[in-house]
Amino acid sequence: MDVVRSVAEMKARANELRAAGRRIGLVPTMGYFHEGHLSLMRESVRESDETVVSLFVNPTQFGPAEDLEKYPRDFERDREMAERTGATILFAPETRDVYPEGFRTYVRVEAWSDLMCGVTRPIHFRGVTTVCCKLFNIVRPHRAYFGQKDAQQALIIRRMVLDLDMDLEVIVLPIVREENGLAMSSRNKYLGPEERREAVRLWKSLCEARRLHETGVTDAAAVRSEMEKIIGGTPLARLDYIEMMDAVTLEKAVVLKPGTLVAVAVFFGGTRLIDNIVI
Ligand code: AMP
Repeated sequence: MDVVRSVAEMKARANELRAAGRRIGLVPTMGYFHEGHLSLMRESVRESDETVVSLFVNPTQFGPAEDLEKYPRDFERDREMAERTGATILFAPETRDVYPEGFRTYVRVEAWSDLMCGVTRPIHFRGVTTVCCKLFNIVRPHRAYFGQKDAQQALIIRRMVLDLDMDLEVIVLPIVREENGLAMSSRNKYLGPEERREAVRLWKSLCEARRLHETGVTDAAAVRSEMEKIIGGTPLARLDYIEMMDAVTLEKAVVLKPGTLVAVAVFFGGTRLIDNIVI
């Protein structure tokens, strides 16, 4: 696996690969890899001739009070893990190369960027869509791989690709979980032992929503109140949101039915965790 550090070199490599008829898969990440990231890389390796893993902690998707500075980083560990999946290029550019002086163009998917995670993180999705648009232009992938873990992000990226006629396929893969159900996340590293134990409440609340739906309870307000009880069962958790929406249109759901996205965000101390299921 080659490590490419500069945008210009990555563009040149992508152009060569395209000219040689190679099919390029891209896995955009912020690093500190876990099985969730690796599942995306493996699928890309399976389906593509070349897999480019981008590793870039993107400053434009962090708010001023968020964890940009302390976001976990371990380049050598990430390099080894990516290499073992069969990825062929690790693209790890410098911030000043991605956002040179004078940068002032952003891509924003209207309305959807303001819902759910967008309420507490108002500039987050603008940063995500902007960096993904740039990565798509630099790497020129045939396919880009994202995790259902960030359900709203996946929907927003799909929408951007459709709306701006971007010539690539967006692939969204299932959430990889710890044995106890906790969704894997680089941010789980911030949790203390007790917080980590209690964080499984996100998953438990989602399982309860599914169970209630299966037993015929479909009223969104009733389901929400049962989920709140589970999440509120520890003083360590502070609920950010429970949302139930159509998993395609993001319209608010009043009743749960197949195709309803149930999504939660919960703070444990300063750490904000998210999870979701689709009924
Ligand atoms: P991140 O490095 O956190 O920005 O994540 C990079 C990609 O990995 C995103 O598309 C995420 O949705 C995906 N991802 C993160 N955690 C998981 C997980 N537990 N299961 C599947 N995909 C994940």
